[in-house]
Amino acid sequence: MTVTDVDIVVSGGGVAGLAAAAVFGQAGFSVLCVDPAPPVTARDAEGSDLRTTAFLQPAQELLDRAGLWERLAPHAADLQVMRIIDAGGATPEPRLTKEFDAADISDKPFGWNLPNWLLRREMVAHLDSLDTVEFRPGTGVKSLFTREAEARVGLSDGSRVWCRLVVAADGRNSPVREAAGVGVKTTRYGQKALAFAVTHPIPHENVSTEIHRSGGPFTLVPLPDYEERPSSAIVWMEEGPEVKRLADLPVPEFEAAMNARSCMLFGPLTLVSRRTVWPIISQLADRMYAERVALVAEAAHVVPPIGAQGLNMSLGDMRVLLELAEASPDRLGDAEMLAEYHRRRHLEVSARVKGIDVLNRASMIHAQPLRDARAMTLNAIYSLAPVRKTLMQMGLGARG
Ligand SMILES: Cc1cc2nc3c(=O)[nH]c(=O)nc-3n(C[C@H](O)[C@H](O)[C@H](O)COP(=O)(O)OP(=O)(O)OC[C@H]3O[C@@H](n4cnc5c(N)ncnc54)[C@H](O)[C@@H]3O)c2cc1C
Repeated sequence: MTVTDVDIVVSGGGVAGLAAAAVFGQAGFSVLCVDPAPPVTARDAEGSDLRTTAFLQPAQELLDRAGLWERLAPHAADLQVMRIIDAGGATPEPRLTKEFDAADISDKPFGWNLPNWLLRREMVAHLDSLDTVEFRPGTGVKSLFTREAEARVGLSDGSRVWCRLVVAADGRNSPVREAAGVGVKTTRYGQKALAFAVTHPIPHENVSTEIHRSGGPFTLVPLPDYEERPSSAIVWMEEGPEVKRLADLPVPEFEAAMNARSCMLFGPLTLVSRRTVWPIISQLADRMYAERVALVAEAAHVVPPIGAQGLNMSLGDMRVLLELAEASPDRLGDAEMLAEYHRRRHLEVSARVKGIDVLNRASMIHAQPLRDARAMTLNAIYSLAPVRKTLMQMGLGARG
């Protein structure tokens, strides 16, 4: 049996795990990243992740430090303006529109949008170029044994690894979190999201648009042109049975349904990808750590896709872990470092989970009087200058 010794084992090679491996590897720590499912790195391959991630400013800075940004920048679409529309009247048409321009608070865009399958491709290529990192796809974490001074990780290929820190980035059902005995609180909304790509005749002008009616938001996020036509990624949230119905519709009928829901803002939309379906939950781990284990990303927190928070919060986890690791490298993964990580992240993460839960419940409302009340509230909130500014800064991930 082979036994290896590394500083950090990253369990999970989703976007968060690959980013964690790059962040710590670039900083000089030795890292082994494992995932039983090899990453799908082509857009049209079976099982490709057609979601996109809008990286907000602090996340972009961390990706830059990890040596990833120069690879990603050529494929990113800027998000300059965020537009929120209420279309909750009797017919699906905009009755209230509020816009936030990044130029009001920053000389940079709010964020940059990239497809998740492309992130995996570029992140895996970058890990290949780092001497400090080994990425072992096709191998998962099978067992975890920790002591005060180290963790011993058993892998599905029969090998064992000793390390000082295990970063659990193995998703919402995290096997490492379970092995470490950390509980979670889960909220189910009975909602799902469709994620897919479209082209449209009217350019998006780098505006990200969230349209509220009922069942959940319909969000169009800018992508670079596709086959020389303006293109956007769409996340369309509805109750589960409605999502199933939409996902099974023949393409012309599906296009008619999404055109009605999009209020034809960019003209008629053409579907240019598969339709993928994602369950929507909200979940928070009771703690961000266990002995020699740090929970990050969906292993620690899951939110509905509103306001591009999910992976941005995950990179926030990594930023704090890296800061603590670099401040005292000899204390990597010890009890004091992990308790400090928990202190700095858990309150902030739980506030965001609660905030997004409230927004999601508001966006699901069906009853007409409540939809009218939602429009009035949106109007009142977004018209107040200090509130607008705070919301915009929160969007940037700035701490209050
Ligand atoms: C529709 C939708 C749109 C979204 N849009 C945005 C957005 O615009 N901006 C944003 O910031 N976030 C967004 N999010 C959230 C974001 O996509 C997620 O936060 C992110 O993809 C989750 O990544 P993860 O790596 O934590 O989990 P996962 O992608 O689930 O990765 C976990 C990995 O762990 C692996 N694993 C499982 N078991 C083991 C084991 N035993 N050992 C090792 N590995 C294991 C799995 O194979 C998997 O690859 C969106 C989410 C949804 C649903």
